[in-house]
Amino acid sequence: MIENFDAKLNEYARLLVEVGMNVQPGQTPRISCPVDCAPLARLCAAACYDRGAREVVVDWNDDELARMKYLRAEEAVFGEYPPYQKAKLDWLLEKGSPNLAIIGSDPEMLKGVEPKRIQTWQRVAGSNSKAYYDAMDAGKFQWSIGAYPTPAWAEKAFSDLKGQAAIDALWDAIFDVCRVTGDGKATDRWREHIEATARRCEILNGYNFVSLHYTNSLGTDLTVQLPENHVWEGGAEDTAEGVRFVANIPTEEIFTAPRWDGVDGRVYGAMPLALDGNLVKDFYLDFRGGRIVDVHAEQGIEFLRHSIDLDEGSHYLGEAALVPYDSPIRKKGILFYETLFDENASCHLAFGSSYPTCVKGGADMDEAAQKAAGLNQSINHVDFMVGTEDLSIVGTTHDGKEVPVFVGGSFAF
Ligand code: ZN
Ligand code: ZN
Repeated sequence: MIENFDAKLNEYARLLVEVGMNVQPGQTPRISCPVDCAPLARLCAAACYDRGAREVVVDWNDDELARMKYLRAEEAVFGEYPPYQKAKLDWLLEKGSPNLAIIGSDPEMLKGVEPKRIQTWQRVAGSNSKAYYDAMDAGKFQWSIGAYPTPAWAEKAFSDLKGQAAIDALWDAIFDVCRVTGDGKATDRWREHIEATARRCEILNGYNFVSLHYTNSLGTDLTVQLPENHVWEGGAEDTAEGVRFVANIPTEEIFTAPRWDGVDGRVYGAMPLALDGNLVKDFYLDFRGGRIVDVHAEQGIEFLRHSIDLDEGSHYLGEAALVPYDSPIRKKGILFYETLFDENASCHLAFGSSYPTCVKGGADMDEAAQKAAGLNQSINHVDFMVGTEDLSIVGTTHDGKEVPVFVGGSFAF
C-alpha cells in the first residue's frame, strides 16, 4: 500500500489539469482514458470543472476490446475510418478543446495480431486525424499526457515484482518523478521548475553556439554543429492565444536540432535502448558528415540496424537534448518502458526527425526549406541516452569562444 495514496492521486490529477493542460474557464477539455484507469480520469474531470470547464468530454478505451477487435473483426473494418470519429475530432479542433491522454497500456497488447491489420488501421486513422494531430504538434490547443499503471505495464517495468506490489512500485516512481508528494504543492513545484527551465533556454539561446563537443570516459568524442537559427526549447509551450501549457509531465529536457549534415565522431549509449520491446545494450554510433557510418552493440545490434535503415533520414540526428545526470528519472535507475518518462533520464540524442520549431520560423517552412535550414526529416524518431556522470559538453560561439555547457554530467550554469 502506498502511504497517502488518495491525496497523491488527487494532487497528480490537479497537476495535469492546472499546469499540464492549464484548462481555462469556459473550455471543453477532452480526456481519453483506458477504462482500467478510470479513477484518474474522474479526478481530472473534477479538477477541470473546478477550473470552470464548460463540459468535460471523456473517451474511454480498453486494451482487451481493442485486441478482440484486431483478432475477430471483419478485415475491411480496418480500412474504414468512421465519419463520426472524424466529425468529433473536427468538433474538438474547432472548439480548441484541451486534450489529456491518460496512458496505461499493456506493452504487449498487440502481440500475435496480424501486422497488416495494425498497419492498415494506423495508416487510415493517421490520415483521417492528421489535421487534429498537426494542430496539436503546432500548439494550436493545450494538451498533456498522464499515466496510470496497469498490471502488465507495472510488471514489465518491475520484472521482479508481481501484481499489486509492481503497481505500487510504479506509482511510487511516477509520483516521485512528477514531484507529487501528497502535500498538495506539486503545481507550485512545477511552476518553479518550468521557470528554471525557461531561464536555461534563454542562456543557451543567448550564446547561439556554432557547435557542441561531447566527451566522456566511455569514449564519446562527438562534435554536433547547430543550425544558424536554432532555438533551444523546454518546459512549457504557449498556444497562439498565449495560454501556457506543459505537454509532458515529467519533463527535464532542454532540446534543439543538430545540423543534420554536421555531426562527426563517436557517441556511446549510456543506457540500454528499448526498440519495440527489444533491448539494445552497450552500443556506439560513428558519424561522418552527419551520417551514421558505423554501429556497434554488444546486444541487439540487429534491432538498432533495422531502425536506422527504416529510411534515409534515420541515418541522421534530429534532436540534441540536455538533461542533468541527477534528474529525478535517472535517480530512479529503472526503465519505465514509456518514452514519456524514459527520455527524461539523461542527455539524449535522437536519430530521425527534428522538431520544426527548433529553427526560427521552421514550422512555417516547406520540407525543402527545413532541410536547407538544417532540420532533419524522417518517419522515425528514436531517443537514445548519452548522458553519464562525467559527461562534458563544450559550446563554441561564432567568435570562437569555448563555453562549458555541461560539467560532470550536469549544467555548468
Ligand atoms: Zn527529447
Ligand atoms: Zn526525442
